[in-house]
Amino acid sequence: MTKEKMLNCSFCGKKRSDVNNLISGKTGYICDACVRLCNTVLVKTNTSSSVVTPPTPQAIYDHLCDYVIGQDEAKKALSVAVHNHYKRLQHPEKEIEKSNVLLVGSTGSGKTLLTKTLAKMLDVPFAIVDATSLTEAGYVGDDVETIITRLLQATAFDVASAERGIIYIDEIDKITRKSEGPSITRDVSGEGVQQSLLKLLEGSTVNVPVQGGRKHPQQELVTVDTTNILFICGGAFDHLEHIVGKRMQSSSMGFKAPLRENKSHQDIFAEMSKNLRTEDFVKYGFIPEFIGRLPFVVTLQPLNKEALISILTLPKNALISQYQRLFALNDVDLHISEGALEALADKALAQKTGARGLRGILDKVLLEYMFDVPSKPNIQSITLTAESVTGESKPIVQMRPVKQKKLKSN
Ligand code: ADP
Repeated sequence: MTKEKMLNCSFCGKKRSDVNNLISGKTGYICDACVRLCNTVLVKTNTSSSVVTPPTPQAIYDHLCDYVIGQDEAKKALSVAVHNHYKRLQHPEKEIEKSNVLLVGSTGSGKTLLTKTLAKMLDVPFAIVDATSLTEAGYVGDDVETIITRLLQATAFDVASAERGIIYIDEIDKITRKSEGPSITRDVSGEGVQQSLLKLLEGSTVNVPVQGGRKHPQQELVTVDTTNILFICGGAFDHLEHIVGKRMQSSSMGFKAPLRENKSHQDIFAEMSKNLRTEDFVKYGFIPEFIGRLPFVVTLQPLNKEALISILTLPKNALISQYQRLFALNDVDLHISEGALEALADKALAQKTGARGLRGILDKVLLEYMFDVPSKPNIQSITLTAESVTGESKPIVQMRPVKQKKLKSN
């Protein structure tokens, strides 16, 4: 046996052949996995005392207003929820209970944007995960602990920092149980996932695989305490209004008018938001313990035409200004007429994807010009009109005046 093969890590005992790197010291060796583990421990001791000082709810709200159009109540409610969460971290002695958040709002109404903007403002680690990819441990799909791995990855494995981060679990309404009664076969993607998520949401210590995915015996595990991680869950909750409406109709309070009669989508949603109760979520397919871990319910209104027009132009980094900056890089002015803004909003409304559809629509209308402009320096400006958005005509393109070559005198 060669000397190389006999070397072991003095910390974990692994053989040279079983590790990527083995660093030698004066009297021993350390492998790459142990170096990483030591680093995690050191980071934890050095930074665990750094607790985020929460800005006031008003300051959080004002910041959200720079980026998110409308959704006033949601912005206020979230500002309070997040302020309280980080205040609680500052004062562990007060034993204030953790209060995770549930966002209810149609697709493209700003749920992810709100959460992302919050995390950025607070400068805390943030991860987005999709609930539909999760399954109960032992089944095909990702273990719920993968959620924590994502957050760790966002911090380059700084455990202490991850432990005060924010996790947004999208599409939470897709992990409802499939039937109302106890199921005969195991419900691994619905109720099973809710059960597995309970522990994380409430706060517990979990060992998560550094690489994510499934746990297996040889994997490196990191221990993370989820007590101070703020979980924000979001979903569109299609048809929840039927459940609320039915309950209200049959309740002894005597709500006679069903939620749907002659009302706009916005009105139905507003009325539902005011009347939501925990039991409606249970009827929707959540186990009471799970919904109990999300005590702060925040609703986002469906966006109307006016809001969509504002989204195009008003927020910091608004879509239109992004495209204008892109064209300006080639010295081209991009103009959008009022009519074009309206037509863009109408198209997005028709797609029923909220503000999410706006970018795709603009991309389609401007594709030809984004293709041409870099190779045609004589284009000076492009103007989008309503007709160019609906496809009835082309945008108006203005060319630069061709410079006349000076005639040589004599
Ligand atoms: P969802 O509610 O489905 O999570 P998102 O937050 O991902 O929707 O929104 C998709 C995109 O639409 C965002 O990136 C943003 O550009 C835009 N958007 C949606 N809602 C708003 C809003 N209220 N204000 C400003 N932009 C918005």
